[in-house]
Amino acid sequence: MKSTTTPSGAAALEQPEFIPFALPDIGEEEIAGVVEALRSGWITTGPRTREFEERFGEFLGGSLECVAVNSATAGLHLGLEALGVGPGDKVIVPTHTFTATAEVVRYLGADPQFVDIDPETYCMDMDAVESVASGSTRAVIPVHYAGLPCDMPRLTAFARQRGLRVMEDAAHAFPSRSGNQLVGTLDSDVTVFSFYATKTIATGEGGMLVTRDSSLARRARIMRLHGIDRDAFDRYTAKKAAWYYEVIAPGYKYNLTDPAAAMGIAQLAKAERFQARRELLAERYIEAFRNLPLVMPPMPRSGDSHSWHLFVVCLADESSVGRDEAIERLFAAGVGCSVHYVPLHLQPYWRDRYGLRPEAFPNSQRLYERGFSLPLYTKMTDAQQERVIAAVRSLF
Ligand SMILES: *Cc1c(COP(=O)(O)O)cnc(C)c1O
Repeated sequence: MKSTTTPSGAAALEQPEFIPFALPDIGEEEIAGVVEALRSGWITTGPRTREFEERFGEFLGGSLECVAVNSATAGLHLGLEALGVGPGDKVIVPTHTFTATAEVVRYLGADPQFVDIDPETYCMDMDAVESVASGSTRAVIPVHYAGLPCDMPRLTAFARQRGLRVMEDAAHAFPSRSGNQLVGTLDSDVTVFSFYATKTIATGEGGMLVTRDSSLARRARIMRLHGIDRDAFDRYTAKKAAWYYEVIAPGYKYNLTDPAAAMGIAQLAKAERFQARRELLAERYIEAFRNLPLVMPPMPRSGDSHSWHLFVVCLADESSVGRDEAIERLFAAGVGCSVHYVPLHLQPYWRDRYGLRPEAFPNSQRLYERGFSLPLYTKMTDAQQERVIAAVRSLF
């Protein structure tokens, strides 16, 4: 038995570089934009935030109001607040989402109504939405899970018929299309995008509230900054009485900063290229995993398109490998994976407050028990994807 190990002996165990689950794609353009913002002196909300809002609206191509915020969670909160949701109201959300989708309902003293997902799309089950809606239901928050648009024509038709408001949680869906129209320009009341570090375009922390309703946008702009009816840009550059402002409500502190907006402007200019790369990576995974006991992610219906924010696979019934073992073995092979999500009906706060039971959400429960997300991001090289493919194949 050898009693010593030397540093050079350890080097013999050299492993290939670890492929993380997600990585932002930050180039020289983003760096230059942030440096320029810092040099300009505008380190809070200023001209770059305005420009980012304008360019985001141009990208979506509708006559839209865009309100930049410091997270999608902030945008979802502002959206529901502006829709007038409050105590006694109920808001329908899918159980298979990040907690932010539901927490904003509680911020306003209202209660979420949780629905299962559709096993064909992993988006909220529209039959469940229609059967759970009651007299106290005020709004619905569909989540375009992984970047695949929900059945928005059906949801918005139902909502209109029942007088419900619709706010899209589009944290995954930039850019995605439903019926050839970009998410953000659909027939809902508000749409909220996320620019969190792992999302399809990133500002570190950031988000965008988008609406066609100018009074809703005005309310969101006021509540974004302390309930003051002008933002800092107006206050410090207006010719007359620059010091004067009025507080009309106990607002929040949700404004985006100019350095973050500068990153956003640079990322937005690459969004189409990013989406094309993600789609190519997704197509390659689907082709490579054809004959494995893996259920591939739901595909967009004709006329729809997928942002491919996430690539979620589900172990088929005949798989001999379980979800935890698959993730552990991929990790050992140098591949980072994740699970989207631990559903809300299993989270202690939601489970206990609303008495939620897994039997009520069989499709979500199944996706949770058998699904996992593979790395898919624009900075991933072809060689890295080949390594992920080989590691997945070797599971079976
Ligand atoms: C990321 C995410 C959010 C929250 O986004 P932030 O910008 O981090 O606040 C909300 N909903 C879903 C579905 C998300 O994935």
